[in-house]
Amino acid sequence: MTTRILLFLLLSFLPGGAPAAPAGPLPLELRPPTVGVMLKFDRQPAPAFLKQLQKDVAAILRPTGLDLHWEMVGAGHHPGAYDRVVVLEMRGYCSGLRSLNGEPPPEGGLPLGWTLINNGEVIPYAIVDCDQMARALAQPQLRIQSRQLLPSLYSRLASRVVAHELMHTLLRSADHHDSDCTRSPLRAVDLTREVRLRPNEVAALREIGRPSGTALAHVP
Ligand SMILES: [Zn+2]
Repeated sequence: MTTRILLFLLLSFLPGGAPAAPAGPLPLELRPPTVGVMLKFDRQPAPAFLKQLQKDVAAILRPTGLDLHWEMVGAGHHPGAYDRVVVLEMRGYCSGLRSLNGEPPPEGGLPLGWTLINNGEVIPYAIVDCDQMARALAQPQLRIQSRQLLPSLYSRLASRVVAHELMHTLLRSADHHDSDCTRSPLRAVDLTREVRLRPNEVAALREIGRPSGTALAHVP
């Protein structure tokens, strides 16, 4: 019995077999959730920065299957329709090529990004401070040996901060844990490592924007 079932499964994937069912849209409950990331920039970012940021954040979230769409918020802009929408306000000048000369010394805890909370609820609005990220990299204790490394370190830091804030807003949680995307504060060593989501984080992100299990049970 097992052999026959296996054989059937194998045959159904062989080319030239029975005609495949016509391709159509996946059932709603099987489609990856769509996420619209609305970007608001204080100043026009360096084009290379924006491209790299989108690429790096997409790579971090790839295991989740989330269907990310980036949009620039501007006058007269009409955003698309998504399962979830997050506004990401990018303050300061976002560029990996900015010179760190003359950056004022960092003060206190140096917040690089934060998410807004209203009446105890995390709302889908996060702020990332591009100037603070530059100050963070200017800290002498980081001992960055080569200035040629700065653009890639800046991009890496930016993608980590954006991914961290997206975790807060998408999971509607203000909690921090000891994982690559939920750790706070970041450590210098974090910039030398690849960012990986944990399996429980991937599972939680896959569930966003879906009806609850109870609601699915009532779909005819
Ligand atoms: Zn946080």
